Amino acid sequence: MKLMPTMKPQKQRSSRSMQAPVEQILAGLRKEYPDARCALEHQNPLQLMIATILSAQCTDVRVNKVIPDLFKKYPSVQAFANTSQAELEELIRSTGFFRNKAKSIIGASQRIVNQYEGQVPRDMENLLTLPGVARKTANVVLGTAFGIASGVVVDTHVFRITHRLGLTEAKTPEKVEIDLMRSIPPDEWINFSHRLIHHGRKVCVARKPACERCVLSELCPKTGVLK
Ligand code: SF4
Repeated sequence: MKLMPTMKPQKQRSSRSMQAPVEQILAGLRKEYPDARCALEHQNPLQLMIATILSAQCTDVRVNKVIPDLFKKYPSVQAFANTSQAELEELIRSTGFFRNKAKSIIGASQRIVNQYEGQVPRDMENLLTLPGVARKTANVVLGTAFGIASGVVVDTHVFRITHRLGLTEAKTPEKVEIDLMRSIPPDEWINFSHRLIHHGRKVCVARKPACERCVLSELCPKTGVLK
């Protein structure tokens, strides 16, 4: 385990006290990122769903470069449902995994047209029936597009930082989400994810967390630990 040269790690907490003080973490994030929002540009739930599918293994910056042309060419769910796989692949190629993503977008759009009267479902159960839509994407759509707190979005930043903060020791995003839903009040679920994602991009970055300027440094068991 490498240590940052200018900082000393905090004394390790006992396993019982490993649980970070959630309320203080929430308050710190609220103060630091009061206006944190989803970084994916979108005008409606369908566009957010498609942007989120495209963001898998890709940066939001890259996705935001692709979607203006995409949404101009396909202005409706019917347009996405009726396009060809090859044509869509060309437009989203730069986001990576473009064959699977094109297949998911077309399949999800066709199902929305055929089963949901052209409207993106507003509940987890039906969203999960759409090709390419797993729990994370469904939580993004429900939370950001509809304001429905269905769960906690666990992306790579949320997964990494909640472990550093001692909020979970779970090995999969699904189990991390369950831990977070137990410890965080439902009215914080949506904003908690937005704020932690911002924190992961600006401060608690994967390669070298900037603990010296982290609002959570006094609460975090991993302060000063590079890992
Ligand atoms: S930046 Fe450092 S102190 Fe802040 S949450 Fe990440 S590991 Fe903890």
